[in-house]
Amino acid sequence: MTKTLTPCPVFIGGEWRTIKSSAINPVYNPSTGDVIAETPMGSAKDVDEAVQAAADAFPGWWETPAIDRARILFRFRSLVEDNFEELVRCNTREHGKTLAESRGDVKRGMEMIEFACGAPSLLMGESLENVAKGIDCDTIRQPLGVCAGITPFNFPAMVPLWMYPVALACGNTFVLKPSEKVPLTAIKVIQLLEKAGLPKGVLNIVHGGRDVVDALLTHPKVRAVSFVGSTPIARHVFELGTKHGKRVQSNGGAKNYVFLMPDADVENSSRGLIEAAFGCAGERCMAGSTAVVIGGASKTVLPALVEATRAIKVGPTDREKQPNMGPVISRQHKERVEQLLEAGVKEGANVSVDGRGVKNSDEPNGFFVGASILDNVRNGMTVAKEEIFGPVLNVMRFDDLDAAIEMANKSPYGNGASIFTNNGKAAREFKHRIKAGMVGINIGVPASVPWFPFNGWDESFFGDLHMQGKEGIQFFTQQKVTTSRWFNYGEGDIWHREK
Ligand code: NAD
Repeated sequence: MTKTLTPCPVFIGGEWRTIKSSAINPVYNPSTGDVIAETPMGSAKDVDEAVQAAADAFPGWWETPAIDRARILFRFRSLVEDNFEELVRCNTREHGKTLAESRGDVKRGMEMIEFACGAPSLLMGESLENVAKGIDCDTIRQPLGVCAGITPFNFPAMVPLWMYPVALACGNTFVLKPSEKVPLTAIKVIQLLEKAGLPKGVLNIVHGGRDVVDALLTHPKVRAVSFVGSTPIARHVFELGTKHGKRVQSNGGAKNYVFLMPDADVENSSRGLIEAAFGCAGERCMAGSTAVVIGGASKTVLPALVEATRAIKVGPTDREKQPNMGPVISRQHKERVEQLLEAGVKEGANVSVDGRGVKNSDEPNGFFVGASILDNVRNGMTVAKEEIFGPVLNVMRFDDLDAAIEMANKSPYGNGASIFTNNGKAAREFKHRIKAGMVGINIGVPASVPWFPFNGWDESFFGDLHMQGKEGIQFFTQQKVTTSRWFNYGEGDIWHREK
């Protein structure tokens, strides 16, 4: 008997409802290959309803004192903590990452709520008296209105939380379109926000793909759009959104280099790189996907790295016994990663650890790819150019730091870059010269915490103001500058003694 799957509901104007759609996207459990839910691919009509609900809720939410808005977020944060393990399991079930990785995903999302709880201080303006004699000047920050967010599959809990807690704390209302591949965790988290007392219409959810995204980008009542996803779509979102007069912050894909200097601590650097390359099965925009091995590091760190990679066990994550690494998101993505490995071999790289064709006897239909290393990768190869977004570590070899930095700086991307070394001068040079917005020194994944901007450069980011940190607050607010002068005391003032 085939099981009927309930479609994921939309949330519009404070009501959860099922929409009719001829197109449905299956949501998989990547550990088993089973379909566990269905995302209805909505339409411009849903977008219009959600944006209208957000527009109707905006005046009341804006007038709500910033501290009262923050209090709802404080309650929301406690509810996320109370329901932590349930969210973690939901996250792992629809995404495939290990339970430990899902704990990280939810925890980083909670940190964003914590950051947003502090928004009242960050919303404060500036003032200067006597900009001219008797004239004062001050700024205040006001919300924009209706904002929208579009999120990718790889951090089902955290990435939506990069956006709406800050937007709401600043007094905006919001429409979220989560990834159609992983809508379940985003829905569960928002049910907690509803329980925390968020007024109806302040946050809305729609589902879909390009039609829905384009409807958000062109809707006259949407003021700002936050996007996270692959570079071609990030560019499209930026171009279409800005053409329609929206503020846009659009995070794209990446290729991140991890430099291993000859003096790097072998144990710590190989452990850091293993975590950077294979954590979340490589499905991270901050994955350390290329090891740049310099000089003697090929004889010290590299052998340790190969040995540790061979020991990584991939398997199903939706159960108590946990593997080291989970599956990738879909069968199609597994095939793409394996094809890229194949392309690497054809173009002259050596596979020193081969994760193609791994089988799991308990779950033969899971989307597994084993941890892999491609050695002797050179610029220009397909695997050096394309974001693989899977458990594949490229190794590029160089004789010196200068040549390696020169190569890395030719990348069209600019998300993260790290160096492992014991040499302060080398680390300082790297920090100064590397073309990347987030730099790690003896840190494999230098993803910034919420109090700092998530700071992609070049084709890893389109826009001016990044998510997180003060830039996040600036993105979701517009400043008003008031210049004021008072000529006389009012007539009939009784409190003013004439001199
Ligand atoms: P994706 O670009 O395929 O999808 C992202 C979102 O865009 C989804 O909500 C999807 O429905 C929507 N979308 C898909 N096709 C579209 C189209 N043609 N027009 C408009 N919208 C469309 O990305 P993904 O596969 O879900 O996520 C992985 C990518 O996200 C990787 O490239 C990764 O590097 C990137 N990412 C970047 C960051 C960052 O902060 N820079 C963080 C996480 C993920």
